[in-house]
Amino acid sequence: MYRQARYDEPLIFEMEGENTYYLDDVDNSILSEIPRELVRENIEIPDNEEYEVVRHYTRLSQMNYGVDTNTYPLGSCTMKYNPKYSEILSKKPEVMYSHPLQHESTVQGFLQIMYELQEMLKEIGGMDSVSLQPAAGAHGEFTGMLIVKKYFEVRNEDRSEVIVPDSAHGTNPASAAMAGFDVVEIPSKEDGTVDLNALSSALSDRTAAFMITNPNTLGIFEYEIVKIAKMVHEKGALLYYDGANLNGIMGYTKPGVMGFDIMHFNLHKTFATPHGGGGPGAGPIGVKKHLEDFLPVPIVRKDGDKYYLDYSLKHTIGKVRSFYGNFAVILKAWAYIKQKGSSLKEVTERAVLNANYLRARLQKYYKLPGKELRKHEFVLEGLRKGNVRTINIAKRLLDYGIHAPTIYFPLIVKEALMIEPTETESKRSLDKFAEVMIKIREEIESNPDEIADAPRNTSVRRVNDVLASKKVIPSWRVAKRYL
Ligand SMILES: *Cc1c(COP(=O)(O)O)cnc(C)c1O
Repeated sequence: MYRQARYDEPLIFEMEGENTYYLDDVDNSILSEIPRELVRENIEIPDNEEYEVVRHYTRLSQMNYGVDTNTYPLGSCTMKYNPKYSEILSKKPEVMYSHPLQHESTVQGFLQIMYELQEMLKEIGGMDSVSLQPAAGAHGEFTGMLIVKKYFEVRNEDRSEVIVPDSAHGTNPASAAMAGFDVVEIPSKEDGTVDLNALSSALSDRTAAFMITNPNTLGIFEYEIVKIAKMVHEKGALLYYDGANLNGIMGYTKPGVMGFDIMHFNLHKTFATPHGGGGPGAGPIGVKKHLEDFLPVPIVRKDGDKYYLDYSLKHTIGKVRSFYGNFAVILKAWAYIKQKGSSLKEVTERAVLNANYLRARLQKYYKLPGKELRKHEFVLEGLRKGNVRTINIAKRLLDYGIHAPTIYFPLIVKEALMIEPTETESKRSLDKFAEVMIKIREEIESNPDEIADAPRNTSVRRVNDVLASKKVIPSWRVAKRYL
């Protein structure tokens, strides 16, 4: 159904070359300067013609998959199409060749961009102050938890627990634990939303914070959020917003309005930056007035028409990132928001419409837990039929040239398939995805063996996921040891 580049590309080390580099050619007087143990006798450097190298890397690039190739419905990750104007901007020589140690007076334009983004994020999040420093969503969570910690230290309150729902993204409990808190997990209700009774029994004067995302990881809006905020605040604890799902509410409501005290933004998700495989990203955090003085430094401020870096926050947790954060991502987010202007709200509208359109098409074929309207994403129950599991559906999608959705997350849905089409996909593209999903559903009935054996049409067939993490092979030299 889809054309897909399929190569059996050797490593460049395995390609035939002339191998004309010899250490003998090097002046011996230079060699004697190098400590003996650092001299490699046999330097295995690939040696190919320029055109061979270009073709090799071009073919490799075509084995890659990204939002520029096709639909990328990876739930929770918000893999929207990234407009090219922001790439052009971030690759301008003025950006690439500026140095973070330059004097403030020579980078006023960059400081202005950072200041404006701080202001825009304050407005979008309903927060009073923003720091752009953290390098990712998870890093923002960790920064937020350090702020929570310091806040209670300054207040002389001994609070050691952070509550998370069982639907949470794994980074939430991990960030809380890394900041030194004990994590208390509470079960969700049947419909996937926060169980107020469970929350009530978990809350105590040991509670430092409750971390949630809204819409939650099932794509459902926490309709009791105002009540939740009240319960948390009545116990003297803070409410943390995981901003990864901002694409489902942006322009319609704000975490600040819902009662959250701290939040992070995933700039690379909501405001478009090519991301995946661990980066690049930016996870600015926003806080309400009472936490302002705890933010990491520096914050960009404006005095008349001059911009400057302020390091003088009273209770600052210090620095969490070298210099000023991931500037290229900050710049892209700024450009994205400026370009959208007042139509930023339409991003959310379209994201929600797209998700619900797909949900409506697919729920006849796959089980959808709960009947509520979803926001920007939805989670289907996968199947267990013969040898077929959700993992096989994901692999079969690759045969049709489509990236699989997120699978086995959130943990509260059996064999979960978490689908987030994002606003940038057209109806045509959504229909294609739906048709392939429906076709796979039929194949599960008519030809389960074929599905269990997928993928068949990819350059690399089924890999051993467990071995891949137990026996890490990060380079060709390490691989050779196993061969
Ligand atoms: C992506 C994500 C995170 C973590 O953000 P990163 O930028 O990947 O570190 C946290 N929570 C949720 C719900 C997410 O989807």
